[in-house]
Amino acid sequence: MGDVVLQELRLATDDHAAAAGPADTVDGMPARWVASPGSTAETSAVMRVAAVHDLAVVVRGAGNRLTWGAPPERCDLLVDSTRMDAVVEHASGDLVVVVQAGCRLDVLQQRLAGAGQWLAVDPPRPGTVGGTVAAALSGPTRLAHGAVRDLVIGMTMVRADGVVAHSGGKVVKNVAGYDVGKLLTGSYGTLGVITEVAFRLHPLPKARSWVSLPRHSAAAVHEALQRVVHSQLVPGAVELDRAADGSATLTVQLEGVAPGVLARTAAALELLGPSATAGSRPPGWWGIQPAGTGEVLLKVTHELAGLPHLLTALDAAAARHRLAAHVRGSVAVGSVLVGLRAAEGGNRVGPAALGPDEVAGLVADLRQRAASFGGSVVVLDGPRVVKESLDVWGPVGAIDLMRSVKHRFDPARLLAPGRFVGGI
Ligand SMILES: Cc1cc2nc3c(=O)[nH]c(=O)nc-3n(C[C@H](O)[C@H](O)[C@H](O)COP(=O)(O)OP(=O)(O)OC[C@H]3O[C@@H](n4cnc5c(N)ncnc54)[C@H](O)[C@@H]3O)c2cc1C
Repeated sequence: MGDVVLQELRLATDDHAAAAGPADTVDGMPARWVASPGSTAETSAVMRVAAVHDLAVVVRGAGNRLTWGAPPERCDLLVDSTRMDAVVEHASGDLVVVVQAGCRLDVLQQRLAGAGQWLAVDPPRPGTVGGTVAAALSGPTRLAHGAVRDLVIGMTMVRADGVVAHSGGKVVKNVAGYDVGKLLTGSYGTLGVITEVAFRLHPLPKARSWVSLPRHSAAAVHEALQRVVHSQLVPGAVELDRAADGSATLTVQLEGVAPGVLARTAAALELLGPSATAGSRPPGWWGIQPAGTGEVLLKVTHELAGLPHLLTALDAAAARHRLAAHVRGSVAVGSVLVGLRAAEGGNRVGPAALGPDEVAGLVADLRQRAASFGGSVVVLDGPRVVKESLDVWGPVGAIDLMRSVKHRFDPARLLAPGRFVGGI
């Protein structure tokens, strides 16, 4: 059967399919074939082959975040999007771009910058547009411009049975029925293959500045954040970087026209007091995830007023389970990332020795306290042995509704089966 499948995949992709090599794995699981469709039509043909032969499919963009989410139950075919890398249309007058899913984010941003515009999911990384949307990634400027979900205004996707579906378009409007663009954002490739996305764009700010304030306790961080959000500063972003020892920096990004930014920078310095400093560049940690290879990355949401409760709960859980927790993220929108590694001085040191029991214990403690900070805890990434020791997604409401959507889009469970919440 293997030869027949490969032959059909080659036919579907103008010969861009092959037997998988050693690098073609998903979270340690080897795929059998890799197909690289060059268009929506070819993607549809590939998915029809997968449906006929009951092949489990994982979509791969740049492949940077294939370990995010739960490991898929099986993986026969990798659908590689990187041949679909064109900017289809940039309507600069309408602040809209239509781009194929395999286009790299940094390439897109470079192209848009030529017209004084950008896709506000900063900062550009070498991931693909499709991967960014499928993993619902956004950065510091989510405060000013919304999450990636808010920037998607249209989408073309291919269902597991090969049927092509469109939603939205180049105009900012609602559509009847399923809003496919919103559904597929953050679906980790479990509902369909995204082949094209239309985004709303923003003008590149003429000037930016960053005002940073060091703080050493959860209460002091909270007090400074409250002052910022209740001020007239209108920040573009407010990010916290807090090391495992509790030393923290709260940084406010101001953007706009140069004289306005200058005046608001002075106002921010006055508001935050003598230990605040201003700069024309972001701090080195800005927009970078706080976990390296082999470490564990959590995504934690919280209410604005719940931040001190989150930090206190995290410190207690980290001490109890002998872990070091580094917090970084958008505290003014209530979404932070937490990097976990073994605490120095503990029995286990270094990423390779990060123990699944310790991580599971910390995550359980934090979830138990989630009501105190008004949020949720998701294990985005980590060694497979760690992810297998717990429910990476945690409890979710409306799981029955999500299951019925999955059943509607992918009844045979061919798309990354088991990767998403509740084993979807
Ligand atoms: C603000 C910001 C900061 C970031 N900081 C860092 C950082 O510090 N370090 C770092 O390494 N990365 C960082 N990233 C993430 C980086 O951009 C990701 O690697 C990238 O966005 C993921 O894209 P990818 O093409 O590698 O996706 P992949 O890893 O290939 O895929 C990710 C998920 O999406 C699914 N998928 C991919 N393409 C499609 C598609 N076309 N249709 C349906 N499902 C699909 C996959 O199956 C998988 O579940 C950051 C991103 C942002 C926005």
